[in-house]
Amino acid sequence: MPCEPMERTRTAPAPKPPAALAAAESLPAEALLTAAFAHWGRALVLCTALQSEGLVLLDLCRRIFPAVRVLTLDTGRLPDETHAFLEQVEGHFGVRIEVIYPDAGELRRLTERQGVNGFRAGQVERELCCQIRKVRPWQAVLAGRWGPAPAAWISGLRREQSPARRRTPKLQPDPETAGAWKLAPLADWSAEQVERYTLRRGLPRHPLYARGYASLGCAPCTRALRPGENERLGRWWWEISSKECGLHRGASPELNLRLQELLPSRKSEAISLA
Ligand code: SF4
Repeated sequence: MPCEPMERTRTAPAPKPPAALAAAESLPAEALLTAAFAHWGRALVLCTALQSEGLVLLDLCRRIFPAVRVLTLDTGRLPDETHAFLEQVEGHFGVRIEVIYPDAGELRRLTERQGVNGFRAGQVERELCCQIRKVRPWQAVLAGRWGPAPAAWISGLRREQSPARRRTPKLQPDPETAGAWKLAPLADWSAEQVERYTLRRGLPRHPLYARGYASLGCAPCTRALRPGENERLGRWWWEISSKECGLHRGASPELNLRLQELLPSRKSEAISLA
């Protein structure tokens, strides 16, 4: 099994947070974002999958730092509703959201190896697809291969979303990328707080929520919830797993091995990032 979520996969001592953010854990979302933008400016970016948490953060960020860079990942398997909603969100906020795509060569190797729907074969195959379509494109962003390298990024993680997220810190070194910091300003928010903020600010809402979805991702790997299910159970419902794509946890040794087989050049790339 992969390591516990949120643990760093590197053995080097964890770096100290910037002094201005030493008290991050005790700060409410708005104060944390205010301090973070004061410290990093435009080098602090927002990554959103257009869930309600992401739109709350986009609204807060735009009020605090209107020039915030906003990015989203297009895996190539998103539902049509998400593309339509992306346009709606851009119109609502008056922003252009940067869309990040997987590397075409890596996708070709993936589909040659396991087919277009090979992610259904097992957890490692699924995680390999998530690595190629989500994690590695995001690592390319953090490494500065997609515009200026961010010093830190904001995610919409909340602790109550799943057992795997219950220890999410509000600020931590990115577990996969040396040098970058990761913020979760809504870590201690409840779903009700997100909903109240959404209503109060009149934020748009992804249309799939109205059809019973609680978490939004790729079309073939996300479904509406059944009564009583935890909100992450609509993701990869055929698996008994932590329900994570890999953006918020390190890769298991088996997954690393598969990645190495698929992308032999990755070893030297990992060394250059270390
Ligand atoms: S969620 Fe499914 S389709 Fe999307 S990247 Fe992961 S395995 Fe692939």
